[in-house]
Amino acid sequence: MDAEDDARRASDEIVPTYSARELSGPISRNEMSARGMAPRLAYQVIHDELQLDGFSLLNLATFVTTWMEPEAKQLISETLDKNMIDKDEYPQTAEIEKRCVRILSSLWHANPDENPVGTSTIGSSEACMLGGMAMKWNWRDRQRAAGKPTDRPNLVMGANTQICWHKFCRYWDIEPREVTSEGDRFTLNAEEAVKLIDENTIGVVAIMGSTFDGSYEPVAELSDALDELEKKTGLDIPIHVDGASGGFVAPFIQPDLEWDFRVPRVKSINTSGHKYGLVYPGVGWIVFRGKTELPEDLIFHVKYLGGDMIDFSINFSRPGSQVIAQYYNFLRLGLDGYARIQQSCQDVALYLSGAIGELGPFELISRGDDIPVFCWKMNEDYAKNASFSLYDLADRLRQRGWLVPAYPMPKNREDLIVQRVVVKEDFSRDMADRLLEDIKSAVDYFEAQPNLKKKDDGSHFSH
Ligand SMILES: *Cc1c(COP(=O)(O)O)cnc(C)c1O
Repeated sequence: MDAEDDARRASDEIVPTYSARELSGPISRNEMSARGMAPRLAYQVIHDELQLDGFSLLNLATFVTTWMEPEAKQLISETLDKNMIDKDEYPQTAEIEKRCVRILSSLWHANPDENPVGTSTIGSSEACMLGGMAMKWNWRDRQRAAGKPTDRPNLVMGANTQICWHKFCRYWDIEPREVTSEGDRFTLNAEEAVKLIDENTIGVVAIMGSTFDGSYEPVAELSDALDELEKKTGLDIPIHVDGASGGFVAPFIQPDLEWDFRVPRVKSINTSGHKYGLVYPGVGWIVFRGKTELPEDLIFHVKYLGGDMIDFSINFSRPGSQVIAQYYNFLRLGLDGYARIQQSCQDVALYLSGAIGELGPFELISRGDDIPVFCWKMNEDYAKNASFSLYDLADRLRQRGWLVPAYPMPKNREDLIVQRVVVKEDFSRDMADRLLEDIKSAVDYFEAQPNLKKKDDGSHFSH
């Protein structure tokens, strides 16, 4: 047998570590085997393989929760069999979902007299699709009522929006109109947004916590500008706030910032329960300020599971366990618990960003004072003679286990490469010190080798 055959065969087989002691033969990667194996062995094979995944504690790229309390884990495993969609079979789970929606409505200052409505989703992406669809439907009704065409909808947003809004536009045939970055502005601003609006604009998306640099977009200013626009043109343009991260941060540590339903033009808000809502993936939420914002036409009434079930979703079946875990956090933490956790994330972010800013080679773009997420660029003078780029630094940190991604900024400022840290609850001040030490020694390493070749593109951008 030649080496090529050997290699091909090897790549078709799984070769586990510890479980190999018990296995009678190789396991195919591509086909189900004729016979099964004992549960403990199957567990061990998969468990071994998953050891190769990254270590989530050192992953500073993701916004998604990587730690929950044992009691929450227990509840999740006790409720994995509950199908969220089947509200007739699991009325208590459905009741808990409703409570969560009411809790969020109140956290975001919805007025109970307007009858706020909402639902859980699999994450913010689905929630954004639902918010976007409501805007499209409402716009279409407006246009039809005015005898105007409905074939060219557009949506105004910053070029820094998360990928789900690009998906929304493509999947639902909507023209994305982006406020591009300019100089040191990497988010949408009111003045530029208004310039892109016409009668075919279904709405404006404002992000509370840009994925690129963690900063909040100016919702209240945007609303004022849209009020002016309405006075001049009669166009009444709604705002959807994408609070994937900030929806669970601002209410606790920036309670005076008006970005939510206190701003009348904000018609809907989404958030990710699995980001700063502190639940394992996948749960998201969307709330509409009033029942009238959610077109009846988008709601399905499902009868074949028994009863009359209301369904407003893109997905159908999904686990109820994450919604229950969200409710666990609400009970367990309360307002005070969430505030303490988000504040301590922010304290760590400010501490670490301050220290990185003082090292010399780097300049901060954001500090982590909106959501606890910040990024930096190379100091321009330093970069001229440096033997490394932020991509090299990311690679070097990766060798120590840290995932700290480097990536280009949004459209029109793609020339600017930044590196970002997302501070989550499980990233302690001690760990921040360790990361800082590792950054310092990486810089020392690069400075000791002035002739290294810089890497000028590379890592993927992780959300
Ligand atoms: C993460 C994120 C999303 C997508 O959320 P998922 O919960 O991952 O689907 C959308 N918008 C923003 C601003 C985000 O940060």
